[in-house]
Amino acid sequence: MSSSDTFDIAIFDGDGIGPEIMEPCCELLHLACTRVNEFASERTLTLNMQSLAAGAAAYQHHGDALPRASLEAARKADAILLSAMGDPAVRYPDGTEITPQIDLRFELALYAGLRPVRSIPGVPSPLADPRATHIDFVLVRESIEGLFAPQGLSKMIGDEQAEETMIITRAISEKLFNTTFALAQRRHNDRRAKGNSAQARITCVDKANVFPAFAFFRKLFYEASTRHNQNNNASLSAALIDHAYVDIMSLNLVCHPWDYDVMVTENMFGDILSDLGAALIGGMGYAPSADIGDNHAVFQPCHGSAPDIAGQGLANPTAMFLSGAMMLDWLADKHDCKGAALAADLLVRAVDTAFATGELRTIELGGQSKLNDVFNAVRQQVSALNIDVS
Ligand code: ATP
Repeated sequence: MSSSDTFDIAIFDGDGIGPEIMEPCCELLHLACTRVNEFASERTLTLNMQSLAAGAAAYQHHGDALPRASLEAARKADAILLSAMGDPAVRYPDGTEITPQIDLRFELALYAGLRPVRSIPGVPSPLADPRATHIDFVLVRESIEGLFAPQGLSKMIGDEQAEETMIITRAISEKLFNTTFALAQRRHNDRRAKGNSAQARITCVDKANVFPAFAFFRKLFYEASTRHNQNNNASLSAALIDHAYVDIMSLNLVCHPWDYDVMVTENMFGDILSDLGAALIGGMGYAPSADIGDNHAVFQPCHGSAPDIAGQGLANPTAMFLSGAMMLDWLADKHDCKGAALAADLLVRAVDTAFATGELRTIELGGQSKLNDVFNAVRQQVSALNIDVS
């Protein structure tokens, strides 16, 4: 990054609906930077984007789903923006699907998957309860171990038995929980700054009653909680730092998701619960995510490449746009860059304002709004909304 706040962004536009949603996202990111630069002109915010090959198409063309040159370029970038990769019709010889987005997590040690689940005004939830308009929690999914860890260690015993192994390490769990408590603290502080007195609630989701690996996971969670409060003057209420089994949490998330704030869980549980979370706020097209490590971060929508609707302009690009906003927010935090924070905030407000009237209704919700309708409505707001630089 130069002194003028220039960030190099590696772009993976992937497969299926990936390129369709990435192109408008990049346009909005540039537009948000331009708007911010009009107001805060002393430091110019610029995103240098470089498109990189990876995914099912790359595998077909080069025999490699994540070419080394792409990986090395991504490693050097300030952040990585990814749409969706994979195609069920393109598989490795053993029958498994191409998943370079998962390979990237391992290569770059992106242990913390942040999956915000926030109701967007005007987007209906399948829950009839009016409190569903207040859903606002983050699921933190451990992303390089758990049941996904032993890639290559899966074992077949003849045609009679299949075995998988779950791995929980202290090293990764401590980083995961430190990230979780730091996130909860930030949300707590941000709410305080807006005059909202709601306390942070942090919930460890596990299956500690059955598996020793989860009892260990939970023990490390409470160790991190003690550590966090010792280092931060007991700033988070211990009464709201709790745990729940994944089965009852599935029920709770349907019955009263508005009660949760930050949840942290193992890789496979997080994979499943994040789709449940997406359903609560309108569907996969509304669920952004970030995969964070010590040195790198990838931002991408929670959904896959949706080949069934690819090439028709039907995909909902909102999760992609919000993932772009998460990237700006992360860059702002990491580099203490006010311009990036303003651009992130502008993009989120633009999405919220575009949907708030209730006129936009995406295809996945039974409406008629296509990709370009959403894009145009959000672009209009990015162009028009005020920016408060104070
Ligand atoms: P992966 O395993 O790669 O995450 P998946 O099997 O979960 O993929 P997705 O590609 O995420 O499948 O999508 C499941 C279905 O949800 C798609 O077939 C598509 O109909 C719908 N869908 C996903 N993303 C979107 C989107 N952005 N807009 C509209 N519909 C979507």
